[in-house]
Amino acid sequence: MTTDPNLPTPGFSTRAIHGGQRPDPSTGAVMPPVYLNSTYAQEAPGIHKGYEYSRTANPTRDAMQANLASMEGGTDCIAFASGLAATHAVLGMLSAGDRIVLGHDVYGGTYRLVDKVMKRWGLRFRTVDTTDLDALRAALTEEETKLVWFESPTNPLLHVTDIAAACQIAREARALSVVDNTFATPYLQQPLDLGADLVVHSTTKYLGGHSDVVGGAVVTRHPALAGELKFIQNSAGAVPGPLDSFLVLRGAKTLVVRMERHCDNAEGIVDWLTSQPRIAKVFYPGLAEHPGHEVASRQMARYGGMVSFELDADLAAAHRFASATRLFTLAESLGGVESLLDHPATMTHASVPQEEREKSGFRDGLLRLSVGIEDLSDLVADLQRALDAAFA
Ligand SMILES: *Cc1c(COP(=O)(O)O)cnc(C)c1O
Repeated sequence: MTTDPNLPTPGFSTRAIHGGQRPDPSTGAVMPPVYLNSTYAQEAPGIHKGYEYSRTANPTRDAMQANLASMEGGTDCIAFASGLAATHAVLGMLSAGDRIVLGHDVYGGTYRLVDKVMKRWGLRFRTVDTTDLDALRAALTEEETKLVWFESPTNPLLHVTDIAAACQIAREARALSVVDNTFATPYLQQPLDLGADLVVHSTTKYLGGHSDVVGGAVVTRHPALAGELKFIQNSAGAVPGPLDSFLVLRGAKTLVVRMERHCDNAEGIVDWLTSQPRIAKVFYPGLAEHPGHEVASRQMARYGGMVSFELDADLAAAHRFASATRLFTLAESLGGVESLLDHPATMTHASVPQEEREKSGFRDGLLRLSVGIEDLSDLVADLQRALDAAFA
């Protein structure tokens, strides 16, 4: 698909499949070959077809990057070997002594990278609840800040930040705004349109979509930021391999149909959970009583495939629940076609001290679902079985 400025921008589903893609010029193959080569022949020194060395550029990676850029409405996508490698590259644009502001419930690995690695290199940071725009504004006015980083919805309580307002506050403070869009995906939410400077993804999750690849990406519309990130991608070299790039591209093409089903199933499970007296609380931005419901309705097409809930019970009951499902696999990660179940207090969020967990509002009875695309009735029956086991 070429970008002809005289034609209207194609719809999202069309971009997901054709954005940045063309048949392979040498064979007409409709999917790019997995170019498993490290180097490229040159006709004469410096005379080549645009490729010199696969850390710098690889055609399979280029096809995937162009596709993700098109989906997010960006001009450039710079891909990495993991979501955290993408995060590290963004932070690599900063210098010792710079200060950043992080959402207080960002992905644990993001916090660990900032707190345990980048801090040693002189990066300074503070966390703030970015759902509270006054708190964000105050955090940015107390000291010069280079960058604001947040997620929406967040993990595991699905807190929703007003992306347009938060990015506007960052812009007024001359700070770059970065939105980790892993949970929502570009199908449900496009932060660049809402004013974000950079969008970051763990392509390991919904974009890959099949729990078979680890990857990351940054998308932007700023030529200068794109240039700097490409320079870091090549200089630090945390690039995705050609097969990984192929798998992300292959997954991305079905994002739309998968997300529709993830959302349908999540809504069905939320309906069931809210009717169960032994479920104390359900966290889903699609619920009218969710504190971020109104903002989510404005900035998201639907409410996503992640659902969290709290059993009206103790840790032991939560463990019985988590061990009793047969379809929901007890595993970390999310965003694949298969349903997964997580007990954050002992799994994904075990490194967060209990007081911190309780401060951000989650208890030992909290369970998180990555709702897959199986038959809804089978998923509900599986949860019913686990609920019975928890209270047996
Ligand atoms: C998984 C995840 C990451 C990290 O990505 P990796 O691919 O595991 O390195 C970052 N942010 C969010 C929201 C994630 O879920």
